[in-house]
Amino acid sequence: MSAPTTALPELRLKRHEDKRLRGGHQWVFSNEVDTGATPLRDFRPGQPVTVVAHDGRFVAYGYVNPATLICVRILGRDRRHPPGRPLLVHRLKIALSLRERLFDQPFYRLVHGEGDGLPGLIVDRYGDYLVAQLGTAGMEWLKEELLEALDKVIRPRGVLLRNDTGARDLEGLEREVVLAAGEVPDEVELTEGRCRFSVPLWTGQKTGWFFDQRPNRLRLGTYAAGARVLDLCSYLGGWGVQAAAAGGSELLCVDSSAMAIAGIEANLELNGLAGETLQADAFEAAKELGATRRRFDLVVLDPPAFVKRRKDLKAGRVAYRRLNRLAMKLLDRDGILVTCSCSFHFPEQELVLAVHEAASRIDRQVQVLEFGGQGADHPVHPAIPETRYLKTLFCRVIRP
Ligand code: SAH
Repeated sequence: MSAPTTALPELRLKRHEDKRLRGGHQWVFSNEVDTGATPLRDFRPGQPVTVVAHDGRFVAYGYVNPATLICVRILGRDRRHPPGRPLLVHRLKIALSLRERLFDQPFYRLVHGEGDGLPGLIVDRYGDYLVAQLGTAGMEWLKEELLEALDKVIRPRGVLLRNDTGARDLEGLEREVVLAAGEVPDEVELTEGRCRFSVPLWTGQKTGWFFDQRPNRLRLGTYAAGARVLDLCSYLGGWGVQAAAAGGSELLCVDSSAMAIAGIEANLELNGLAGETLQADAFEAAKELGATRRRFDLVVLDPPAFVKRRKDLKAGRVAYRRLNRLAMKLLDRDGILVTCSCSFHFPEQELVLAVHEAASRIDRQVQVLEFGGQGADHPVHPAIPETRYLKTLFCRVIRP
């Protein structure tokens, strides 16, 4: 969309509502729009707009969705660069230059939504292949230009759209998995630290691999030598395989998904390592293992988000506390618990508290040794706390 700026419809803000945007925020909420001047129903979902202040002055370009609480997401503040291919190319180049500085191999999150100035977009890079997720009607609207921009900046051999995410329901979009360009294999291999992993791109969780935990998984080696290791909610064995490679004496990986279990087994073999797998619910498995008095020296607990929306906080808090307690019970004297939460609505202090309360209930005491977060290829936007979501605590659990 290289149309002149005048081609974009204007969306007018109420008085003073431009302030937060000028301060760097990237969202407009529906109650901030002057709907008398520019009724939201006049816009189509995803349509690019020029956001103007109450007095008509230019504020930013963005895209609109009249059906969602966040009704505009900002794409740019330079009047000369409206939404379209050149702007997308520019953003992608900036994103790419960061990753090229961070990594010596082209395997990483290339675009982390708002954190990279591209709201609603996630792109993971697996060498020559890209797996993207368009989470909003606005990104869907820009799809063709985005694919052209990706082609120009990355020249991938294929782009897969893993648009099978719940976020799309809220935006009124279909869930789908589509090959958008070239070809994309069923699996790719990547290297993390000293380990190799085979990752299923079409059928894996989300966009295939959880790059966000990479720096934390690389820290695990420090704690793994000689340890009996339990990896709960293991997915493809990202943590467990790493622990076994670092000299863990025993490994058990638990996941509820059959696809994940097959992946863990393949990845153990790929690295010439041994380990057990168990397809089970993490809560049930932890309880069973406790009942059989099985003990571990290192337990990793990296569950899916239990607090997806703010209103799940109470139930989520209970779930985190309970699962952490069950996991801690399996630790032998002086064991290590690595516990994680990828729920934005469950901040770090909540997780610390959940761990503390879980420990108190069973007469254990926790020392938090390290606070980890998402890797640098998941940049945080300082005005948008939602872009910082991953918490990983390395804890020592002692019996007083
Ligand atoms: N630790 C992984 C990522 C975990 S993603 C890594 O570093 O790559 C969460 C995983 O939890 C998924 O593989 C999912 O299948 C599994 N899962 C979800 N609910 C579960 C449950 N109740 N019990 C066990 N596993 C579960």
